[in-house]
Amino acid sequence: SSNALQTPSLPVPPVILLLDTAIPRHSWCIPFSVDGNPVPDIHWLFNGTALVEGPYIHTLIMEYEHNSTVLHGCLQLNRPTHVNNGNYTLVVENALGWASRTRNSSLEGPVETTDEHTFGVSVAVALAVFACLSLSVMLILLNKCGRRSKFGINPVLAQEDDLAMSLHFMNLGSSPLSSAESKLEGLKSNFIENPQYFCNACVHHVQRRDIVLKWELGEGAFGKVFLAECYNLLPEQEKMLVAVKALKEVTESARLDFQREAELLTVLQHEHIVKFYGVCTEGEPLIMVFEYMKHGDLNRFLRSHGPDPRGPLALGHMLHIATQIASGMVYLASLHFVHRDLATRNCLVGHDLVVKIGDFGMSRDIYSTDYYRVGGRTMLPIRWMPPESILYRKFTTESDIWSFGVVLWEIFTYGKQPWYQLSNTEAIECITQGRELERPRTCPSEVYAIMQSCWQREPQQRQPIKEIHSRLQALVKTPPVYLDILG
Ligand code: AMP
Repeated sequence: SSNALQTPSLPVPPVILLLDTAIPRHSWCIPFSVDGNPVPDIHWLFNGTALVEGPYIHTLIMEYEHNSTVLHGCLQLNRPTHVNNGNYTLVVENALGWASRTRNSSLEGPVETTDEHTFGVSVAVALAVFACLSLSVMLILLNKCGRRSKFGINPVLAQEDDLAMSLHFMNLGSSPLSSAESKLEGLKSNFIENPQYFCNACVHHVQRRDIVLKWELGEGAFGKVFLAECYNLLPEQEKMLVAVKALKEVTESARLDFQREAELLTVLQHEHIVKFYGVCTEGEPLIMVFEYMKHGDLNRFLRSHGPDPRGPLALGHMLHIATQIASGMVYLASLHFVHRDLATRNCLVGHDLVVKIGDFGMSRDIYSTDYYRVGGRTMLPIRWMPPESILYRKFTTESDIWSFGVVLWEIFTYGKQPWYQLSNTEAIECITQGRELERPRTCPSEVYAIMQSCWQREPQQRQPIKEIHSRLQALVKTPPVYLDILG
């Protein structure tokens, strides 16, 4: 491979040079060779479902080629049985992209069939489906986005399930995560794309006897969130209020995800990222300790401060909220960290209208209507996603910018759901066809212009988050004079 000849310092998108059928060694081995710089993260699907590695099945790198970025390894299977026979998909991913390949392996007898699912094939499938989908969407557009006819029945994608199928099908070709389990998918991908952000040794451990639960604050996909008093956390305070997240089920994979998230949260530190104090892993449940943000999540906060029943938030407040989230996003972008799920439900509000980004992929239960289930268990926040994320599951700093534009829209509508008047399928159609959310009534044209700069179809055309932050800061200093003539 030409990639193999490149020096390690040059960036190399991940490629799979070899994936063979299982061979019996001292334990069984599914051999592979991959290339990529930064070193790609390697994970596996078994029959299309994320394979959780453990003592019996794990990836083993056998050999690093001298002066190149090529790795040779095995998926090692210790004493497999017939249940281990099936399709093994190798997925390699780094910041530059990903590649996948599937091979059928029979780990007891001789190998019968192979099923190559190369990137090229994937792209071809994706393009073919994209062509079909585009045609469908054009037809739909006439019905929904153009005329917005109440009676416009879409002849091609009449049901949500049809679109789910199409998207699922496309994702089989275009995303390594299509069949991956659970709501954690986005979070895991961030891990995959940002392997440098983990620091096992840095995670602070809190003793269980130092945590005194007070009452429940909310519930997310991972488990419940409680207000608690925590002793001996900071030197200057004997006890302080904290929010603790207790992990619902403690399977091996949940424990692993918990550990990885804790490592990541320890590294992410910024005044507009919710402060993470540490974990408590003595016994169960597993607990994460965060700073307590007394007004809860931003979506609920916005809804309770709408035009009625209490006094609405003023323009200055809205700009202040937006600027703080932008500041947190500038920080994440500077680390090349892709959030993938920026939305007001994932931001928290503290005293004096301090707003922080407070969730990295864990809050999907109470707001389940904000997510769209695509084939099986994958949940996507499609209303916050740009066309390329919907169509190809491409999540980047630029797709986060799009979501930030939607967050701005949420702020200026007091927490309305984007495209609330449309079903998930209709929302997908409109987004992929380039229809924009309308200017909220309380939104000055200067702010709407910022939203529109986030919603450029071409990711590279979207205004960098740093510039958006500066524009918002300037507006905070001199808010535009705005009369809500309709209000
Ligand atoms: P999550 O599991 O992060 O989605 O949290 C569920 C709910 O608990 C959120 O929607 C918030 O209302 C509340 N919550 C989460 N974290 C905090 C925190 N640090 N301070 C206050 N409330 C929180």
